[in-house]
Amino acid sequence: MKNRFKRAAKGARLAHNKNTQNIATVDLPVPEKILLPMQQHIGGTAVPMVKKGDQVYVGTLIGRADGYVSAPIHSGVSGTVTDVRPIQISSGAWVPAVEITSDGQQAVDPAIAPPKVNDYESFTTAIRNSGLVGLGGAGFPTAVKLTMKDLSVIDTLIINGAECEPYITADNREFVENPQDIISGILEVKKWLAIKNVIIGIERNKPEAMDVMFSLIKGDPSITVKPLPSVYPQGAEKILIESCTGREVPRGGLPSDVGCIVMNVSSVAFVASYLRTGMPLVARRLTVDGAVAEPRNLRVIVGTPIREVLDYCGGLKGEVGEIITGGPMMGVSVVAPAFPIHKQNNAVLALPRAAAQLPPAGECIHCGRCIEACPIGLSPVIIAKAYNAQNVDELDRLMVDPCMECGSCSYVCPAKRPVTDTMRLAKAMLRKGAKKK
Ligand code: SF4
Ligand code: SF4
Repeated sequence: MKNRFKRAAKGARLAHNKNTQNIATVDLPVPEKILLPMQQHIGGTAVPMVKKGDQVYVGTLIGRADGYVSAPIHSGVSGTVTDVRPIQISSGAWVPAVEITSDGQQAVDPAIAPPKVNDYESFTTAIRNSGLVGLGGAGFPTAVKLTMKDLSVIDTLIINGAECEPYITADNREFVENPQDIISGILEVKKWLAIKNVIIGIERNKPEAMDVMFSLIKGDPSITVKPLPSVYPQGAEKILIESCTGREVPRGGLPSDVGCIVMNVSSVAFVASYLRTGMPLVARRLTVDGAVAEPRNLRVIVGTPIREVLDYCGGLKGEVGEIITGGPMMGVSVVAPAFPIHKQNNAVLALPRAAAQLPPAGECIHCGRCIEACPIGLSPVIIAKAYNAQNVDELDRLMVDPCMECGSCSYVCPAKRPVTDTMRLAKAMLRKGAKKK
């Protein structure tokens, strides 16, 4: 089906609240225990490879990828496996999780060595073995993204440095603190996938990140830095592609349909570090902000309890209504403070009680602000009408399926209606209707 809308990248103008933008990252001390759920990515749940009593090291494979769209999981501590048990994750699903008690030694697995990469296949195999998933929050296995039947269709690698959600500054710190790995990672992806052009997209509210990238790409005409408007959701893949290249991903299509691959900036920097050291993804940078005593950026071992992350930031401040991982627009509620940090968590935010409580929804006043705010040109108020009437054909005509659940429509609604929730339900209704047909 043809696109009928034009992505005008209107989005929502949010308060950025980048309070930690200039705060250098520090390492969170090694926790006493880590808990590794076997589902920290989109796709198949990994299969535990260890049992209670096993000795493991930093970098030891703990869960093997199950299927093509999946990712392996590794230990970030040395110590002993003290439990393998099912836990409930944010989606509500129960998955196996491996608990490891640290011995405090941080001994590295003797098998860790830089991977041998000499062609495209060995490169994607290495990325698959590294356990890398989209570090910007998506959690999609990177090896799958980089695996193409026909590489010749890709001419542009886009590096996502938009970081458009309020509060989060982890990617900004990656630009400032680790720029050489970003460039090295870009050059590796570019070389092995034979990509001609690279565009590094950075929102204008990150001047330091832009300066450092501009200075490093000098002399390489194949890499450009693209300053982007600081409008949410600038970092959404399809919006970013359009902002950087002017190309519009078709309805139901992929970035490769318009010759692009999009990688998060921290993900591409990890590629360089993995190829250099062979150490898989066992730790990551994240922002801690909101109702905490000392907002900061931390480098955290995957599997660390969120409670320890919050305690390291001076603990909670005032009345807290909810703790989320990710940003306030698309983040997910934390099941309990003992819940572990996952690979794809770029932030932990403590929302004050007042901010976490949903205000009572009023009647729609047909102001059209949700339509103005939708970055992909949908008409949420009209879609809501079709949903209430259970009119599947109309939902199809109104093209609700590309809705990325960004939350902009709910954010701008003066009647405080849960518009995004309705979009989510309308998408499910359309999917169900399509299946029946
Ligand atoms: S949640 Fe969906 S409908 Fe609402 S603004 Fe975002 S993309 Fe548009
Ligand atoms: S923004 Fe809210 S009140 Fe205005 S048209 Fe949309 S749903 Fe109705």
